[in-house]
Amino acid sequence: MKLHFDVAVIGGGIVGLAHAWMAKRRGLRVVVLERSPAAEGASVRNFGMIWPIGQPAGQLYELALKSREFWLQLKTHGVLDVRTCGSIHLAHREDELAVLQEFCNHRSHQTKMLSAEEVLQRTHLANPDGLLGGMLSITELRVDPRTACQRLASWLQSEEGVEFHYGAMVVAVDDKHVHAADQRVWTAERIIVCSGSDLKTLYPEILQSSDLRLCKLQMLKSVAQPQRDSNTPHIASGLTLRHYPSFQKCPSHAGLRRRIAEETPELDRYGIHVMASQLSSGRVILGDSHEYDDQITPFDNMEIDGLIVRELRKVIRLDDWRMAQRWHGVYAKHPRLPVLEVDAADRTTVFTGTGGAGMTLSFALADRAWTRWTGENA
Ligand SMILES: Cc1cc2nc3c(=O)[nH]c(=O)nc-3n(C[C@H](O)[C@H](O)[C@H](O)COP(=O)(O)OP(=O)(O)OC[C@H]3O[C@@H](n4cnc5c(N)ncnc54)[C@H](O)[C@@H]3O)c2cc1C
Repeated sequence: MKLHFDVAVIGGGIVGLAHAWMAKRRGLRVVVLERSPAAEGASVRNFGMIWPIGQPAGQLYELALKSREFWLQLKTHGVLDVRTCGSIHLAHREDELAVLQEFCNHRSHQTKMLSAEEVLQRTHLANPDGLLGGMLSITELRVDPRTACQRLASWLQSEEGVEFHYGAMVVAVDDKHVHAADQRVWTAERIIVCSGSDLKTLYPEILQSSDLRLCKLQMLKSVAQPQRDSNTPHIASGLTLRHYPSFQKCPSHAGLRRRIAEETPELDRYGIHVMASQLSSGRVILGDSHEYDDQITPFDNMEIDGLIVRELRKVIRLDDWRMAQRWHGVYAKHPRLPVLEVDAADRTTVFTGTGGAGMTLSFALADRAWTRWTGENA
């Protein structure tokens, strides 16, 4: 076992793996230290949606598209099944249709409006009752969140020579030394702390005064449905338009927010908007809610699951509404930044807080950091 590396990455979620890959691409010797037997955090609990459409035009959308290219490289290398499924935002209300139309008119993203008939031709998941139309975006990808990190880690280990240690609970970092709870020590020229939503173990003084917020999301997965098209687009509802910042520029957006707050205040209370993504197994990942900081408890709230399903039934159609799984995930989110990147010491950087866009942005965020660290643009 080697003990000295160019780079030590703490955390084997998508952010840690992104750093490991980007460092390896630059020819560096990398070790990844993960406390669990496998990644178990937000990176395996999400929808598996690579979701550029949720990023506002400009730098963040460009970063999302760059990450998308990295995901497609993994497909080309045979590492992962990555589907170029795209997405459809459904409109079942006039104000939803108006926001989508206004958004498309900006031409800031690769989108186009679809009639209700065109939506139904492209997805069997859309509920035709009251459907007014939808917006197609071609940039979204689907990966299976339960296996993506594990496959990426296996590939980095076997083909790229990255060393992985699972069950390595890092308890301290000091001057190039990384200390595990079981007394093992590794040294590295650069250390990157990608500890996700754990704000208490490493550098708590930085993380707890950083404006990072924790957010808990409840999720469900249906039993397998007939699989009519293995590339069926991700579905987002009108409720989703108030969740992602890209839509805020639309003149009808404020009215839509007001209408939802008046009609269904319980959805705002729990930060509920609804999305669906059908995996190749036929099961459909469904969600979600958003509860922050002091609202977070270890226990899942059945009222929230009920509201998610109630709203989903208005916009999508499943042959069988029985659920195969329920779970929750927690992520750390910075209110203004796509990621919190803080130098905790010389050549030791804390890199966390990708919020609800870690699958979408991590590769490009890590690549940007490595471009800077290695002076590639100088
Ligand atoms: C329910 C849900 C749905 C989501 N849907 C999407 C989506 O569809 N698309 C999208 O782009 N994003 C989505 N996200 C966001 C995305 O999943 C996160 O932004 C991303 O996974 C965060 O990755 P991470 O590596 O920072 O954290 P994590 O995945 O939590 O990984 C952190 C890892 O660090 C390890 N660790 C922590 N401390 C230590 C230590 N001291 N020593 C060793 N190891 C340590 C942990 O065990 C963990 O494995 C979703 C998130 C949730 C919760």
